[in-house]
Amino acid sequence: MNGIEAHTVYIGLGSNLDQPLVQVQHALHALSGLKDSELVAHSRLYASRPQGPQDQPDYVNAVACLRTQLTSQALLNALQSLEQAQGKVKQRHWGERVIDLDVLLFDDQVMDSDSLTLPHPCIAQRDFVLVPLLELAPELRCPRTGQAYHEALARLPEHFLDPCSPPRSVDPSSGAVS
Ligand code: ADP
Ligand code: MG
Repeated sequence: MNGIEAHTVYIGLGSNLDQPLVQVQHALHALSGLKDSELVAHSRLYASRPQGPQDQPDYVNAVACLRTQLTSQALLNALQSLEQAQGKVKQRHWGERVIDLDVLLFDDQVMDSDSLTLPHPCIAQRDFVLVPLLELAPELRCPRTGQAYHEALARLPEHFLDPCSPPRSVDPSSGAVS
């Protein structure tokens, strides 16, 4: 990247179709090649139960941290291009998908446009987002409400990662589950 201002962004990844582990690994690789951007880090890969319709397979989730010179809208467009290239087809609300790439946080931007809500409106309700996000940045707060995300996680009434055991995680290089 050149000297243009760079933004710190967090991307949520999810998949539950066509070898979800491979799909998330593929998307992480694609993010590492995103234009005008640098993949700084990514979380472990987590297995979660579906939110919404229950007649669908379990998910693999992760969060990636990028530095990017793209605007938030250009980043969303780029992520949607990656989703299309990976074969995403919208089926039903909160339904199964080959890959989902959501902009969770874009610096501290707060916005509500027709195409983009920042921060992503569902972060604080989803342990499968909060746990990998906090793995990367334990002190993050919601830029809209000021609430610490670790407090949101502690108060969650509903769990999609197994609360009785440490989150199952997958080493993205070997595919080993621990
Ligand atoms: P889901 O809500 O299940 O992620 P989609 O991935 O199909 O469903 O996204 C639906 C729409 O959500 C997209 O067309 C996009 O414009 C909009 N959207 C609003 N805010 C965001 C955000 N922060 N990240 C990603 N998509 C967003
Ligand atoms: Mg999405």
